[in-house]
Amino acid sequence: MSGWEKNIRKVVPYVPGEQPKEEDVIKLNTNENPYGPSPRVKGKQLELEKLRLYPDPCASQLVKAIADYHGLKTENVFVGVGSDDVIAMSFLTFFNSEKEILFPDVTYSFYDVWADMLKIPYRTVAVDDKFKILSEDYKCPNGGIIFPNPNAPTGIAEPVSFVEDIVSANKDVIVIVDEAYVDFGGESAVSLIDKYDNLLVVRTFSKSRSMAGIRIGYAMGNEKLIQYLNDVKYSFNSYTMNMPSIELGVMSIEDEGYFRESIAKVISTRERFIKEIEKLGFTCLPSKANFVFATHERLKAKYIFEEAKKNKIYVRHFNKPRIENYLRITIGTDEQMDIFIDFLKNLV
Ligand SMILES: *Cc1c(COP(=O)(O)O)cnc(C)c1O
Repeated sequence: MSGWEKNIRKVVPYVPGEQPKEEDVIKLNTNENPYGPSPRVKGKQLELEKLRLYPDPCASQLVKAIADYHGLKTENVFVGVGSDDVIAMSFLTFFNSEKEILFPDVTYSFYDVWADMLKIPYRTVAVDDKFKILSEDYKCPNGGIIFPNPNAPTGIAEPVSFVEDIVSANKDVIVIVDEAYVDFGGESAVSLIDKYDNLLVVRTFSKSRSMAGIRIGYAMGNEKLIQYLNDVKYSFNSYTMNMPSIELGVMSIEDEGYFRESIAKVISTRERFIKEIEKLGFTCLPSKANFVFATHERLKAKYIFEEAKKNKIYVRHFNKPRIENYLRITIGTDEQMDIFIDFLKNLV
């Protein structure tokens, strides 16, 4: 080993879902929304001459649009390059205790990567045998808490009262609720941010707004939390949000009709898909997200995953304890799900 190698920050990186190069695949592996962004986003004329200039470091237009949308003040909103950026920044800002931070054992697999990378001690808390998070397990000394609601990859949602139970029992640390999937049927904890100054709610444009490619995420919380986040951000990179993301983000927020319509389509396809595959011997966890987490009574998840891939259908399989016999299947269009259902019928 060369001398310098001992001083390297060594990390085991997060592995994102595959983005296959071929065009004709059915892609149900990374929870993208099949309907695409609002026509207002697609029709927006960008003044590319403006790329000469640095973008607005405060991303004011976008922050204002998001604040208005949620009935908040701009001081309650922080924006970043996808919620991955917002959450990483939040770990850096809020998780500096010597005590362990807590998150579920079955959850978004980026949390332990950020904790390792930033040298934050952590402990995972087992979800129960129905994959539910238990609020009682989070009532112990800790350095902070994060969980998604609905959880990923299970899709299980908890009511606001559940979030409040955890937040109110942990007033000396920051509790982050990752609401990446909340628009697909969950209950948001945004209503609690006036009441609890230790709650941060994180959202993304990648799933429900069908804009994963533009990279917009945001956090909502007490103005002090947002100020601390901004201090860290400006100590890191002042210009995280570029001009196209700021302007196209605003366009998306302004088209509520399209947003509601595309979400309603995903939800109705989800419910139909669950019924269809349950007839084929699958069990699905109750999902309030744009994916379902399913296991088959006889066929191994890994086998289904591999056979589907041979048929150019991509779903997600996690080679991890407790969930290795489950598939996370993103809800696509009705046509895509019908093709997948036909494939499963043949396989079963
Ligand atoms: C997709 C996802 C994110 C990250 O989304 P971005 O594309 O970075 O905004 C964060 N948390 C969970 C639980 C997710 O599923």
